[in-house]
Amino acid sequence: MVESEKPVREIRINPIVPSESVLVATARSMRPKKAEAPAPRDTRAHVDTCPFCVGNEHMTPPSIGAYPEGAPWQLRIVENLYPVLGDERENPNLTFGLQQTIDGYGRHEVMIDHNQHGIAVHEMSEEHLALLFSTYRVRMEQLYQSNPRLRYVLVFKNFGPAAGASIAHTHSQFIATPVVPANVQDEVENSRLYYEKNHRCIFCTLIDEALTFEATLYDRESGEIRRKLDVGQFVIERGKKFIAIKPFASRYEWEVHILPLAHQSDFLATTPDDLADLARILRRSMARLDAVLGGAQYNYFLHSVPHAPAYVGCDASYHWHLEICPRTSIPTGFELGSGLFVNTVSPEAAAAKLRAVVLD
Ligand SMILES: [Zn+2]
Ligand SMILES: [Zn+2]
Ligand SMILES: [Zn+2]
Repeated sequence: MVESEKPVREIRINPIVPSESVLVATARSMRPKKAEAPAPRDTRAHVDTCPFCVGNEHMTPPSIGAYPEGAPWQLRIVENLYPVLGDERENPNLTFGLQQTIDGYGRHEVMIDHNQHGIAVHEMSEEHLALLFSTYRVRMEQLYQSNPRLRYVLVFKNFGPAAGASIAHTHSQFIATPVVPANVQDEVENSRLYYEKNHRCIFCTLIDEALTFEATLYDRESGEIRRKLDVGQFVIERGKKFIAIKPFASRYEWEVHILPLAHQSDFLATTPDDLADLARILRRSMARLDAVLGGAQYNYFLHSVPHAPAYVGCDASYHWHLEICPRTSIPTGFELGSGLFVNTVSPEAAAAKLRAVVLD
């Protein structure tokens, strides 16, 4: 029996954010949730009534940009029709006692990711994916420069009804906020503490561990071999500049993270060469997920070092990455109440399945 087939029941501590630990429980009796077959995603190339489709440009809110410039658009950025954050209000709410608020100031924009309505990421060309990510970079930079109060620009994509995408046409979103989201803040803070103690970036350490093929754990007292780990088992894809990893303590069954192999804290520092390799690794990882899941519906989001004076010292300790979280189940009361996610597929078995997909 190979390691990945043994039943697993253990709490795994997320090395970056320990409060985001996960209960990996693969025995059938431990399954707290059953994934219903999600509503199928819309795969049509063009939909007459879709505001994001070619020919319907007049149906979207004002256009912020279309790319590439001077050619039929492949990507468009528009204002969000229902922004969750907006312009500065003249009379901020008064606060009372424990009821403290922060003004909902910020920017919320939508990027139409492709001129074909229902195209999936793994079906896009690598040239297009490189353009997509370079446009993320350009717009993030513009948003940061537009107002020094904006301290974080979150870029994310919801794909498929199971992932909460309200418009079927493939798109991403930018949300620029005056506060750094708690998830990012936790990652930044914990990696800074790790750096102070170990003088190394924790993400670089994780990558090194993932690339070490085998490790043997010995019993401290007797010196006997306790466990042989095939550490390379978490690698999904490895490119010249990027790596796709199945995190050891994944909250979601099919969660995959993509990181630059060389240390880099800020996504805005990526070069065209970087993005070409990122496009390849992303396309291949998404093709693997799509094949294993029979059509992946997911959220992905970029985590990069925040742009604010307080974060200037985090360049050595923080390492940007893309988190891809396919949605195969909905959180249960146990998960919401405890904050402990339950993962019923062991990350090593999931990685083995993803790696086994034959790509052309
Ligand atoms: Zn459309
Ligand atoms: Zn690093
Ligand atoms: Zn992250």
